[in-house]
Amino acid sequence: MQFEILTIFPEFFTSPFRHGVLARAIDGGIVKVGVHDLRAFTHDRHRTVDDRPFGGGEGMVLKPEPIFEAAQSLALAEKSARDTKRETVILLSAQGKRFTQSVAQELAGIERVVFICGRYEGVDERVNELLCDRELSIGDYVLSGGELGAAVIVDTVTRLLPGVLGNADSSRFESFGKADGSLENLVADVPRSMHGAGGLLDYPHYTRPPVFRGTAVPEVLAGGDHAAIRKWRRERQLEKTWRNRPDLLAQAELSAEDRKFLERLSLG
Ligand code: SAM
Repeated sequence: MQFEILTIFPEFFTSPFRHGVLARAIDGGIVKVGVHDLRAFTHDRHRTVDDRPFGGGEGMVLKPEPIFEAAQSLALAEKSARDTKRETVILLSAQGKRFTQSVAQELAGIERVVFICGRYEGVDERVNELLCDRELSIGDYVLSGGELGAAVIVDTVTRLLPGVLGNADSSRFESFGKADGSLENLVADVPRSMHGAGGLLDYPHYTRPPVFRGTAVPEVLAGGDHAAIRKWRRERQLEKTWRNRPDLLAQAELSAEDRKFLERLSLG
């Protein structure tokens, strides 16, 4: 998979891609990341990438010409002729649709993803209209640039690609994971929660020591009773989601048993 990032701060990306899973995926040739300096596509002495907004108002706006030239240098298909299942152009924007795990899963199936990172007041809207296939926001807050958003999306998508995580199950049994009936059985002899995360948050994890500052690891986890561990994990997932992200419950795949447990929780 190939990521291309168009930015006025290419040096921003020297660090985020040099650690852990992402660095291994790049070094192993599973993903390639091209970072392109928009100033290299300007033609004036000052390498100007921004200008004042039409209609007045504060701040500056990224000009369309360097962005289009940078896109051209990547030999992107025209927007109207683009096969967006193979190649897609994303504008990072606080006004975009929310980036979620399911969008990450969709992007993981695309061969080349191009990111346009805004700065200042944003990007001339014609870039969005004429070049981009989608506008994505990484959350309901305003960043000072799209670079962090691009790094977040590259990280999230990369860990979903085959061969990136040491254990492929890691990305199936975590927060926001899709419900999957085939995951019901024990995998690698580990008593997972039922059907992957099923749209819920993950369950809590513990490691040694068994007692830390007077707080013991829940007894059930050391007991070796797989059915009991599975039940405990499912209930903790439900409890955490109910407490921290009740909005997720509406979309989650819940069994009759799950619903009874949630009912008991809400009754206190
Ligand atoms: N005037 C814009 C607004 O109110 O929506 C904010 C511009 S912001 C200061 C500059 C750039 O940061 C944006 O063009 C975008 O690329 C990026 N950005 C800001 N918030 C973002 C978010 N939540 N998700 C993704 N990118 C974001």
